[in-house]
Formats: sequence, C-alpha cells, structure tokens
Amino acid sequence: MGEPFAYFEGNVVPLSAAKVGIMTHALNYGTGCFEGIRGYWVPEDEQVYLFRAHEHFERLHRSAHILRMKVRLSPAELTRLACDLVAKSGYREDVYVRPLVYKSAEQVGLSLVRKSDDGGLEDVPDDFFMFSVPFGAYLDLEKPIRVTVSPWRRIDDNVIPPRAKVTGLYINSALATSEAKVLGFDEAIMLNGDGSVSEGPGENIFMVRDGKLITTGPDSNILEGITRHAVMTLAREELGIEVVERRISRTELYIADELFFTGTAAQVSAIGEVDGRVIGNGEIGPVTAGLQKVFFDAVRNRVPKYGEWCAAVYPVGAGVK
Ligand code: PMP
Repeated sequence: MGEPFAYFEGNVVPLSAAKVGIMTHALNYGTGCFEGIRGYWVPEDEQVYLFRAHEHFERLHRSAHILRMKVRLSPAELTRLACDLVAKSGYREDVYVRPLVYKSAEQVGLSLVRKSDDGGLEDVPDDFFMFSVPFGAYLDLEKPIRVTVSPWRRIDDNVIPPRAKVTGLYINSALATSEAKVLGFDEAIMLNGDGSVSEGPGENIFMVRDGKLITTGPDSNILEGITRHAVMTLAREELGIEVVERRISRTELYIADELFFTGTAAQVSAIGEVDGRVIGNGEIGPVTAGLQKVFFDAVRNRVPKYGEWCAAVYPVGAGVK
C-alpha cells in the first residue's frame, strides 16, 4: 500500500498534500461537523465493507444544516466517493473514514453569516474533505472495560447541539475522556446538567435490567448513534429482546445486570465496572455477548438480511490488486 489519499477542495490528492490555512474559520472557532465510518476488511471476500455509510452521510447533511452549511454531494454520491477513496488507497485492513464539512473562509469574525455584496446576509463559505486511515480496536473488546462517571457534564442542546456531530463540541468529550484516563479508567460516562445519564464521550450507552435493553433517548443530549440504531434493531429482530429508550439515573448504572457502549469506534464494548462497582459478575454478560456476535457478523456482511448496511469498496468479484 502506498500513501493514502484524501478528497480535498474537490480533488483526490495524497493525504500529505491536504492542508488548510491558519486563518480557517473552523480551525479558529470549531465550526465544522464530521462523521466517522468504519470499514471492515474481510479477507475471505477480498473486500472492505463500509458500515452504514449512507446513514452516516445523511447525518452529516443534518449536522451541516444545523450549522448553516451545505453539503454539495448527496449521501449516495458521498458513499461512492468514500468507497473510491478507500479503494484508491488499496487498504487490506480495517479502516476509518473521516468526512468533514467546515467553514473554510479565512477571515476573523466568528459569525456563521456575513454581509453579502448586496448588503444582505450570506452564509460564510464552507468546504468539505474526506480521508481514510487504518483503524483497529478503540476500546478493549476481549474483556469488559472500567469506567467512571465524569465530573464534566454533557453539553446541552441549547449550548452546542449534541445531535449534530460538531467539531467544537468534542472539547467536552476530550475533557471527560482524558480525565478518566488520567485517573486510570478506560473511559468516562457523562451526565446531563440535571444529573441523569447522557452517554459516553464518543459512545452511546446501553443497560440490561430485568431482561430489557434500556438506552438513553434523544432528550438526554446524545448523538443519535448509528451503531445504537443497529444494536437496537439487532436486539429486537435477532435476539427478541424488548428495547426501551428512557432516562437513566446514575445509580441505575451501578445496579445494572449488564452495561455496554456502542459507537463506530467503540463497536460494542462491555463495561465491567463503574466507579469501583462491579457490573453483573464483572464478565461480558449474555445479552452483550449475543449482540457482539450478531453485530460483528452483520458488519462483515455475514447476515444477508443486513446486507444493505455494508457498502463494498472494491468492485465485487474483481478481487484486490
Ligand atoms: N456519541 C458520541 C458523542 C459520539 O461521538 C459517537 C461516535 N460517533 C457516538 C455517540 C456513537 O455514534 P455512532 O454509532 O453513529 O458512531
């Protein structure tokens, strides 16, 4: 494999050639929105499958809309572009694709709109880039992780909307995850301003209680996760488990039968301990294990029912050069 490629300012260029100027609005004010998409290398198929790329690009459109930005390519066109980019880089391993829409104007002034020539207002210009890099496991999948409830509260919809995957919002996540790591934990759980559970810094959270799968809903300042949606679907359809979206209070975490995170990076990661309280028997619980099994089959295009979740990067049947 040679150097990876990026899509930048309308062209496919070597990744090292894609640079932005220091006055770029997004770099100064965090005015970008992005996605993270996993690609799974399946050696038997000589194929990389991008997981639910179309849904990620639909969410990118929604995030951009909130930030007064336009994505000029449709989700279908962006999915094709992502596949082409990964194929051109010739990856034969798991990858991560990062598309980002950003306010690209090189000007001082934080507003998302500015005066137009006719004296009215226009949106500050934006641009789009995408790159892909090799990417392995983010959290431990072999054994349950140890987490702590963060003193950093999750940011509210009326502060920076968490349903939009906004670059600047990730300062909140970075503070929480870094502090958890400094204290010796693997990851943090974040609470809302009212003290109820929100989600992880880059993951949605699920709890098993009395045989039901429970997760926080969009009213808990969460990112409406695509892995979350996949896991809810798999739990209902494949494991026949009831799924409930509702508020979760902090101490429910401590007494849960099972807890796990979901996310593009995290995939399905079991949580074995919260703030020094062991969850269940401290091992990966049966519901989590069942979901991990069907999830990792689905992302590798091994469950025909969910075949449309997997976008093939290389021309089917052509093999990889
Ligand atoms: N919450 C946050 C804050 C995230 O950054 C992510 C990762 N994108 C998730 C949840 C999980 O979302 P998804 O499953 O779509 O990756």
